[in-house]
Amino acid sequence: MDEPTTDPRPLPCPLPARTSYTAQDALVVETGAGNAEAARLTEALQALLVAKGLLAPGEVEQEIAKLDAPGLHLGARLVVRAWTDPDFKARLLADGKSAAAELGLKVGEAQIVVVENTAQAHNLIVCTLCSCYPRSILGQPPSWYISKTYRARAVREPRAVLREFGLDIPLHVRVRVHDSNADMRYLVLPMPPPGLRDRDEADLPGLVTRDVLIGTAVVQA
Ligand code: FE
Repeated sequence: MDEPTTDPRPLPCPLPARTSYTAQDALVVETGAGNAEAARLTEALQALLVAKGLLAPGEVEQEIAKLDAPGLHLGARLVVRAWTDPDFKARLLADGKSAAAELGLKVGEAQIVVVENTAQAHNLIVCTLCSCYPRSILGQPPSWYISKTYRARAVREPRAVLREFGLDIPLHVRVRVHDSNADMRYLVLPMPPPGLRDRDEADLPGLVTRDVLIGTAVVQA
């Protein structure tokens, strides 16, 4: 493949300088302001690459669609099956990848480690190094998950981070933080809602949100 030719002309930068970042940026990056800045930067870069012929129009959207093809619904399927089938739950906790394969889910990661929330322990997932995430099951991580602030604070002060997500974990409940890596991706098995057996199974997947699977939220009754 030919190397791209370099255009020596300076490019206009459409972005104003960002003034400051706060400790809470990890948790607010998904607000309109954070997204708008990221979107403008992305659009400018994309337009530049298309103008230089390095990228075809629409190519980025196609790749994003591929990356987004897995999604929360697959994680919810695993959880609901585990809630309603104790044998499957045991297999899921023993070997997440094999259990996912039972449901026809193709797991690209070397290993999926499923960690169970109980009345005694709450699990929180992070990747302190970069952005490791069970993408083949959940799709793309939220932007705060890959922020430096979340990655640092989740291990240093997980209870404080969880409180900022609106989750106050009682002191008698242990908080376990799991650091994902290239080979090992974690997924939280949340506690089921009260009265699970009396509920319509069709309604259960709706209780399993993305944040529940990361551990920054719990199932709402
Ligand atoms: Fe990583």
